[in-house]
Amino acid sequence: MLNKVGVAQKDNQAIIIDNPSKYMTMTYTLSLLVIAVLSLIVHLLLDSVIEQQSQTGKIVNVSGQQRMLSQRASLLTVEYLTTGSLQAKKDAADTVAKMLSNHEFLINYQNEAGKGLSKELYHMYFEPPYEVDRLVKLFASDIDKVLNNPPPAFQSADTILNADFARLAKNTLLTNLHAVVQQYEDESKMRIAELRFAQNIVFMVIIFTILVEALFIFRPMVSKISNFAKRLQYDANYDALSKVFNRRAYNLLAKRTFDLSLRHQHPLTLILADIDFFKKVNDIHGHAAGDSAISWVAQNFKKMSRETDILARIGGEEFAIVLPETEFSAALQVAEKFRVAIEQTPLLFEEKSIPITMSFGVSARQQHDTSIEQILARADSALYTAKGAGRNCVKSAE
Ligand code: GH3
Ligand code: MG
Ligand code: MG
Repeated sequence: MLNKVGVAQKDNQAIIIDNPSKYMTMTYTLSLLVIAVLSLIVHLLLDSVIEQQSQTGKIVNVSGQQRMLSQRASLLTVEYLTTGSLQAKKDAADTVAKMLSNHEFLINYQNEAGKGLSKELYHMYFEPPYEVDRLVKLFASDIDKVLNNPPPAFQSADTILNADFARLAKNTLLTNLHAVVQQYEDESKMRIAELRFAQNIVFMVIIFTILVEALFIFRPMVSKISNFAKRLQYDANYDALSKVFNRRAYNLLAKRTFDLSLRHQHPLTLILADIDFFKKVNDIHGHAAGDSAISWVAQNFKKMSRETDILARIGGEEFAIVLPETEFSAALQVAEKFRVAIEQTPLLFEEKSIPITMSFGVSARQQHDTSIEQILARADSALYTAKGAGRNCVKSAE
């Protein structure tokens, strides 16, 4: 009588559960890809920032040097004119050459983006009032003239200090070179402020992306997985047709209940119930009517049993109800109540009323029992006795 699993149950097992792993792989690959692309952008941005800042540093430094070179060239020229030192003459010429080459570098410099002087700097180099380009070249040619056409007799300190190159070095050229350095520094500060702004934007974009991913990718993913797990857990423990515990869940739960009852020496009873002449129900009314009867019986039992009872479909049209903390006499009453309810409520199927009866075998845990199987075996033989006694009755093993 045990272990008769019908065709319908087999059919139900064929239900395919949508496995979310493909969806998960797709979504987390996509979200990781987005983060990877963002990281790459940040990396490239940082690269260009570092490159630009090192260039800017160099430019500011060279423009600063020009002030120092103008003073040095002027001093060396004064030294040459007052002492006639050829070393001073050579050094003065070298310093002017260095200053001119720096100047060429500054006015021709282009950054990676091909951008040269800013509008302001162009203005300072080539237009009044600063005219740095003209002044630098004028200064260089003044010094060149003095170095290459030294006056017949060395001049007095007064005339030397009033010479064009000396006045330029001391006043206009120095002031204007200084203004240029200031402008380079201001532009560098502005650039840093722009980069700070970009840095904040990038940070916000990353945080926003992570939030969006958490909300629209990871949250639905977790809920999909959790639904999948719930569905699997349900299918692992419940019978699809009758919606009560299946044989597997019964085995686990009944064993645990038996162990508890043994440890605490509490009563434990078991009812086994089987539909009478079920083959006939199938034959006369069709398999669908048979299925409907199984589900109908299960729902009736469910309604009548306690929360703590373990109700399971353990065979084709066979149910087990494990009753913890229940004395044998009470279990007999429960079985009788079930029997009467099934007998008195006909099954309605496609507007037909199909009479159903069931036979019951009841057994209780005995002192010598070591497993739930022994109790089930006695209930099974009681059920067999009930079938032999004409069905639609309750028999006990004890
Ligand atoms: P008895 O009174 O001696 O129990 O007679 P019975 O006809 O109920 O006994 P038997 O165990 O020989 O027949 C059970 C039948 O139940 C056999 C099988 O075709 C049918 N069955 C088993 N599982 C299912 C099911 O899930 N759905 C349907 N419709 N029929 C099932
Ligand atoms: Mg049967
Ligand atoms: Mg039967």
